[in-house]
Amino acid sequence: MVSKELGRGALRFEHQLVIDPTVCDGYGYCVELLPSNLIFDDWGYPIIKERYVDDEHLELAYRAVKLCPKLAFRVNKIRGR
Ligand code: SF4
Repeated sequence: MVSKELGRGALRFEHQLVIDPTVCDGYGYCVELLPSNLIFDDWGYPIIKERYVDDEHLELAYRAVKLCPKLAFRVNKIRGR
């Protein structure tokens, strides 16, 4: 999803969710905050069902970054297509 446009010659950014499975402990804060993008697997670990975060859910995504106790959850801001 395009999250920001700045007039002519617009700069476009997308926000991608990234979870490091090597450190995630499955506390699930991220899934509870972002059910639009994440689901639990059978063992209570998060699965990304939609990698791109739309503007409407961006604040929640960054809140999940702050709340993740293992620093496993990130939002990467990248140049859009
Ligand atoms: S909040 Fe962090 S540790 Fe908990 S399930 Fe999400 S990514 Fe894993």
